[in-house]
Amino acid sequence: MDKYEQIIGLAKRRGFLWNSFELYGGTAGFYDYAPLGAMLKRRIEDIWRKMYVIEEGFYEIETPTIGIAAIFDASGHTRGFSDPMIVCSGCDHAFRADHLIEGIVETPDALPASEIKRLIDEHGIKCPQCGGVGTFGDVSSFNLMFKTTIGPGAERVGYLRPETAQGMFVDFEHLFRFYREKLPFGVTQIGKAYRNEISPRQGVIRLREFTQAEAEIFINPSEKNHPRFSTIEGMVLRYYPAANQQDGDGVGGVGSGIIELTARDAVDRAIVAHEFLAYHLVLTHLFLARVGIDPARLRFRQHQSDEMAHYAVDCWDAEVLTDRFGWVEIVGIADRTDYDLSSHAQHSKKDLSVLIEYDTPKQVERIVVKPDMSVIGPLYKGNAGKVRAALIGLGEEDLQGDEIEIEIDGEMIAISRDLVEYETVIEEVRGERVIPHVIEPSFGIDRIIYAALEHSFSEEFVAGVTRNVLHFPAEVAPVQVAVLPLLTREELIAPALTIAAALRENGVFVSYDDSGTIGRRYRRNDEIGTPFSVTIDYDTLDDDTVTIRDRDSMAQIRVPIGELAGMIDAMIRHGFSTAATQSSR
Ligand code: AMP
Repeated sequence: MDKYEQIIGLAKRRGFLWNSFELYGGTAGFYDYAPLGAMLKRRIEDIWRKMYVIEEGFYEIETPTIGIAAIFDASGHTRGFSDPMIVCSGCDHAFRADHLIEGIVETPDALPASEIKRLIDEHGIKCPQCGGVGTFGDVSSFNLMFKTTIGPGAERVGYLRPETAQGMFVDFEHLFRFYREKLPFGVTQIGKAYRNEISPRQGVIRLREFTQAEAEIFINPSEKNHPRFSTIEGMVLRYYPAANQQDGDGVGGVGSGIIELTARDAVDRAIVAHEFLAYHLVLTHLFLARVGIDPARLRFRQHQSDEMAHYAVDCWDAEVLTDRFGWVEIVGIADRTDYDLSSHAQHSKKDLSVLIEYDTPKQVERIVVKPDMSVIGPLYKGNAGKVRAALIGLGEEDLQGDEIEIEIDGEMIAISRDLVEYETVIEEVRGERVIPHVIEPSFGIDRIIYAALEHSFSEEFVAGVTRNVLHFPAEVAPVQVAVLPLLTREELIAPALTIAAALRENGVFVSYDDSGTIGRRYRRNDEIGTPFSVTIDYDTLDDDTVTIRDRDSMAQIRVPIGELAGMIDAMIRHGFSTAATQSSR
């Protein structure tokens, strides 16, 4: 049994994840979040909100999960959002063609269809379903969007959104006004995204319905320094730059291609394109570590030039090391330039540029052309207006010589220079119009949850028995405190229930458990990651104290009931030992 099987087994048994529609046999690519899983997911999303919405100040919005076709025509998803598909003629099964040659080439998803097929044939790849060899047809391209219709009839095509981002781009004009027409500003959205994956075989890693948390940060293209960079510039991250990916194995250590650098060095040595992106790589690292990802099994891999979207300046994936799937992308962080807004401006025919005001207005020289309409009017009659418009648009260099050439309705005509005067004026210009650039961190919440489960899990031997533990940070653990009467006796149950109620009133999620031996109850709680257990025993009846047991060290301290709520709160925030030591001082 590998770690994936162990984790998924635990997740199903203990109520984190269940296969969707299991009653009817289930379908690949869909998972239900069971009671503990839903709680864990909510806590992880709430930490994301704390960091991105509250601390960064990026308001959250909510847009429909169905989009009209025009949006995805502009974003490029109707044309290009597809994966290479290959079908086995032996069993009619469809597969992601590039996945069949993983391990043969470094970046199979960057290869053209013909090259993928050539490699499949050359290496005699067997059909994973029926074992057939030479049974594959050609590689075709399969669009991953779920298509639907809006309203009755088939005319209005809609798509389930493949990412939350587009809802934020199409609201840009409203958002810019909301933010009082100043850059930079950020907006966030947490919600479902849908991708009709060809053959999802990796459990929660590849889903057909999943949750994304995305931030779109609109910035001035000429200001890619981050105003708060100095607050994080000393943070060390593990970078795996594109240039190191040919020779390195990407695992870590000397010669692996992974380099540990401060954010400052990463920017100064031009490894990360600019401060704004580097700041968001650090923020991503801080978030992932806070929700339980092991920093030693986390790296930031830069996209190679053939992987990166043509418009992007620089793009990094936060990847985690998993036991079964190797390195898995869980977050993408990109500088998308003005691609999204320019493309929506072009398709919607709306001007999405913004005025960037200069610190002090500039005095600019300009010429004002004055055609003599008392002559031009009668001379050009119906075309006089067009002649005037063409003349006033000319520059000083066009007004030299005896005649001025202009084009009216595709025809060149010559106007005598005597009929045109001009003067130079000084004008005040407040700023310039630009299309903002977008920095986008895009988090896949479900993959983060899986990685947090796998990285938190350990199997430990204590006094001859195995205990399974999820070492979740207290902030993400679904159940924060287990309240356990030592024995199932009325005199212990009554105070235990009172204590549980008091903790709940304080906003702590408590599970009350009085079935089985205390050792078994501790182990049950260790396995679901409950950080603290409060035990009520016969001493409680004498001296009004209870024990708090720490999941990780299994250490216990006794505290007066009156101090319990404050102590639990301090432990959730600062950990068991810090809170315990501080209170004993
Ligand atoms: P992308 O837009 O493809 O860069 O995806 C952004 C993030 O969404 C990725 O880093 C993943 O964490 C997550 N993601 C993408 N596709 C899936 C999927 N099929 N199932 C689960 N998560 C996904």
